[in-house]
Amino acid sequence: MSKNTPKNKIINRIVNQSTALGALVILLVASLISNFYLYDSNQNTKKQNQTILLESQNLRTSLDDIGKKYENIAKQLDINEKDRLFLVQSFNQVGSEYNGLMNNYNEKLNEVTTLQKAVFIPDELLKKYSKYYFLNENYSPSSTVQISLNYTLNGKEVYIMPEVYTKLEKMILDAKNTGINLVINSGYRSFNEQKGLKSAYTQRYGSGANTFSADQGYSEHQLGTTVDITDGKVGLVTSFENTKASTWLRDNAYRYGFILSYPRGNNYYMYEPWHWRYVGVELATYLHDKGLNFYDLDQNVIDSYKTKIFD
Ligand SMILES: [Zn+2]
Repeated sequence: MSKNTPKNKIINRIVNQSTALGALVILLVASLISNFYLYDSNQNTKKQNQTILLESQNLRTSLDDIGKKYENIAKQLDINEKDRLFLVQSFNQVGSEYNGLMNNYNEKLNEVTTLQKAVFIPDELLKKYSKYYFLNENYSPSSTVQISLNYTLNGKEVYIMPEVYTKLEKMILDAKNTGINLVINSGYRSFNEQKGLKSAYTQRYGSGANTFSADQGYSEHQLGTTVDITDGKVGLVTSFENTKASTWLRDNAYRYGFILSYPRGNNYYMYEPWHWRYVGVELATYLHDKGLNFYDLDQNVIDSYKTKIFD
């Protein structure tokens, strides 16, 4: 045991104080170390936090970018869809306008065709020529063609309007196919030819010639649409009506547009079973179906068939 001397007391105090100081220093150092670690850890956390924040911000930006791109694409798609629909609608509209215009065009074209026919088809082709009405001596067909010598009597030169010849030839060929021989005896005759013919008749038969070759009678031949048809054996006589050719013509000629101008019992002219006038298929069929004679029809009714005469 040390003695409680002043020296010892001082030493003890110093020792005690030193111990306390040492403890304090240790505590201080520990606290410093601890604080340093805490600080360091804090800094790390902060850094990590900042990194994460930065990364999340980058992600956010990327997401926004993608969102914008998506919106743009969606817009473009929307615009394209609208454009497509607009184009389809426009196309359909243009299509229906085109159809409408085409319909109008065709209607106008038909009107023009009808008007042209009305203008270019002479009224004379469907007029009635009787004891009172006859064709102007200056009238002549717009054109004529020669009928094939195969179809004419003894290879005679006979002429007719080309439009009528088409129908006539078909009729002759169809008849031939059923064993009927149709022979063309005469067709177009000009006013002067007819005049010569009439004067020849007059010389032979006197004034009686008027009954079968009168002024009004030749008018139909002057049109260029009328033919005298026989079977090549029986001539231009009433008994021609008893031939197979005559029966065939009465049953079928209307299909080709031909009518018998002066049938038996008519009030306009002597009976001519061989004398066939072209009036068009439609009118000829009407007359045939109704059992009517051309010359009994009202001229206005007849005229309404004019534009269709060559159909
Ligand atoms: Zn005749």
